[in-house]
Amino acid sequence: MKDTILVIGSSGQIGTELVMDLRSLFGNNHVIASDIRPSISKELLESGPFEIIDVMDQNRLIEVVKKYKVTQVYLLAALLSATAEKNIELGWSLNMQSLSNVLDLARHKHIKKVYWPSSIAVFGPTTPQTFTPQHTIMDPNTVYGISKLAGERWCQYYYDKFDVDVRSLRYPGLIGWKAAPGGGTTDYAVHIFHEAIKNNKYQSFLSPDTTLPMMYMNDAIRATIEIMESPSENVKIRSSYNIAGLSFNPQELSQEIKNYFPNFEMSYQEDYRQEIANSWPKSMDDSIATKDWNWKSEFDLKKMTADMIKNLKK
Ligand code: NAD
Repeated sequence: MKDTILVIGSSGQIGTELVMDLRSLFGNNHVIASDIRPSISKELLESGPFEIIDVMDQNRLIEVVKKYKVTQVYLLAALLSATAEKNIELGWSLNMQSLSNVLDLARHKHIKKVYWPSSIAVFGPTTPQTFTPQHTIMDPNTVYGISKLAGERWCQYYYDKFDVDVRSLRYPGLIGWKAAPGGGTTDYAVHIFHEAIKNNKYQSFLSPDTTLPMMYMNDAIRATIEIMESPSENVKIRSSYNIAGLSFNPQELSQEIKNYFPNFEMSYQEDYRQEIANSWPKSMDDSIATKDWNWKSEFDLKKMTADMIKNLKK
């Protein structure tokens, strides 16, 4: 029997792209998009099913899972790092309860497989910042990072105790052109492209030398589908895998953009997101993901910038 996938939080930055790629692999009617708000993507709404779901409502989840005979859930609904710092109660309750609800679907055999993303935010100020290892000090100091670290332990627990097939990646900051970012600390790296094309200038909320791990959306979506489609025995880590794409700072990105817009002007005005960024790694060691399920990124800074500008100009 062919798998049927429910994507929860599909109207966001990642879901908008992930749903379309999953539909081309599994067939349009085998991928159910869902979110608490409608999608702005016509392509997504017209190509297959869409359901309004509040992930906090377990009965509604079960209803949709039964209606479509769902076998896999990709859980993307969450409050991201910057937004969660502004509303810590909602950040904690949404990020934790959504995961519990979905893991329980698998524990009680309503579904077979779960994907849930973690983040580089699980690391903290005393974590080694360069080439951060898979197993190292984890002392996050944001509500988002704390919820992601707790979530990782929860995934491992459900795998160990209840044999739940859950898989997870620690995404770095993600950059894509199809959908707006949802309130993270690395959002500048998407906004800068829009502003360069529209206004030829951008004011960064992170300082010029704030180097962070990043990844182009094409790589992130491919990693997501690759770990989900890997044979179960290859997925040896059931908390979450480090994955790496590229690392750069606002100044290096603005230099690269100047190759396309020579008069591009970059200015800097740090805000509260600087402190969040300061507590995060600068680059990631993803050698275990490479060893276990053959992960390899494809986009470097040049290739990503070229692709972003080409697509946004259209
Ligand atoms: P996003 O904010 O763009 O999208 C999240 C979606 O969840 C939104 O469309 C929102 O409407 C929906 N949502 C919120 N509350 C909901 C609820 N109660 N029920 C159903 N849907 C609800 O986020 P994203 O960037 O697409 O991120 C998806 C996942 O990836 C999150 O878990 C996030 O923490 C993780 N992640 C993202 C990044 C990144 O750079 N984008 C980096 C690391 C980890």
